[in-house]
Amino acid sequence: MQIEWQKEISQRKDALLADLTEMLKIESVRNEKLGSKNALFGPGPRAALDKFLEIGKRDGFAVLNVDGIAGHLEYGTGIETMGILAHVDVMPAGKGWDTAPFEPIIKDGKLFARGSSDDKGPGMAAYYGLKLIKELGLPTSKKVRMIIGTDEESGWRCMTHYFEKMPLPDFGFSPDAFFPLINGEKGNVSFNVDFQGGNGAGAKLLDFSAGLRENMVPRDAIAHISGIELKEIKELLTEFADDKPIEVEALEQNERIEISVIGRAAHAQEPKNGENAGTYLALFLKQIELGSGAEQFIDFAADYLHEDSRMDNFGLHFSDKTMGDLTMNAGIFNFAAAQGGRVTLNFRFPKGIGASQIEEALAKVATKVNAQVNTTGKLQEPHYVSIEDPLVKTLLGVYERQTGNKGYGMVVGGGTYGRLMKRGVAFGAMFPGTPDTMHQANEYMLVEDILKAAAIYAEAIYELIK
Ligand code: ZN
Ligand code: ZN
Repeated sequence: MQIEWQKEISQRKDALLADLTEMLKIESVRNEKLGSKNALFGPGPRAALDKFLEIGKRDGFAVLNVDGIAGHLEYGTGIETMGILAHVDVMPAGKGWDTAPFEPIIKDGKLFARGSSDDKGPGMAAYYGLKLIKELGLPTSKKVRMIIGTDEESGWRCMTHYFEKMPLPDFGFSPDAFFPLINGEKGNVSFNVDFQGGNGAGAKLLDFSAGLRENMVPRDAIAHISGIELKEIKELLTEFADDKPIEVEALEQNERIEISVIGRAAHAQEPKNGENAGTYLALFLKQIELGSGAEQFIDFAADYLHEDSRMDNFGLHFSDKTMGDLTMNAGIFNFAAAQGGRVTLNFRFPKGIGASQIEEALAKVATKVNAQVNTTGKLQEPHYVSIEDPLVKTLLGVYERQTGNKGYGMVVGGGTYGRLMKRGVAFGAMFPGTPDTMHQANEYMLVEDILKAAAIYAEAIYELIK
């Protein structure tokens, strides 16, 4: 049977946009202060879940609402189950919008609204793909469950709860990222390295801080020192910053000197894209004799962390042929002379290496600077589905047929619902070359791309369950 997927979807354009508009009008931002037993993340995410399931029910799907936290709509029968995992919660709108973020509007072919590209637009596109298969009455041999989450943007507690009660699908995809396809997601783990406080007899480091989040390269660093002349610091600092990609400043303040460094922020997925203000400030302070815990804290940051995103200084450079490098980001620095210090390090690691090997390499160095490595309790293992897997081949085949562009798999440092299934990937819905407006002001998705994605999803689902 020859099905004209794009034509079939375009005939359903008005209905798709009407349903999507209803979804986008719901301010489904997490608000636990207004939460209740049956709406854990607040009334917005709950209302969006209800709406999605109501649409499914209207169209004749079997639906299940799991405690107002997650839910699914189901089609077909069979021993194997395919999963489509999407989410209806959205990031807070934030400032800088030209239109009202929860009043969807189409301008120049772009549908503007919070959630248009992440993830209500792609989710609705996948839903219309499934709905098309149902309407055409195509023969299928497997079950499909479209699973809807309400807490993707923070802790994924929706999926944790859902999968406590329901079985995992055998394979599937999440329409919550990019085309062509993401078949690998690095592991993610963070460790704290903890230091003693104190200084020697001479100059003193009173405090030191840099970075706000472990998954970002710190842009700003600031330290306060005493027992040294401002003039001397200024001379050293000017010379130090001369050939470096940073801005620096020193000033006197209540008999202590404040030194600040501005570098460049970047996502921890690739620390090389940033300039770590924290390690630069440590490198500068290393020129001053400090002694005790302060000196150990500075030595660690300057000698081991500075410009070492691949852990060469720890003797642990590791790379996987398909998933790329192990990376380290020194995301948060804190030191106070009276309390001690802490550096929080975030690692993205490919298959072939484990969190325990990273911890071991850290601990070896930590002993040398009288520090201790402590777990942060957060760990995600790497996820990888072979490019040869029939799931991946089928999805890329459909993508190539419908777009005329080359399909390929990508490995990313972030996480999507795809990783929840052993044979799970992320598939769409952002097309290569389109600006990524997810989580930003004026988020939009091209109407044409929503329809293109829906047609791809329709054929892909059909190929996978026929
Ligand atoms: Zn998303
Ligand atoms: Zn998001």
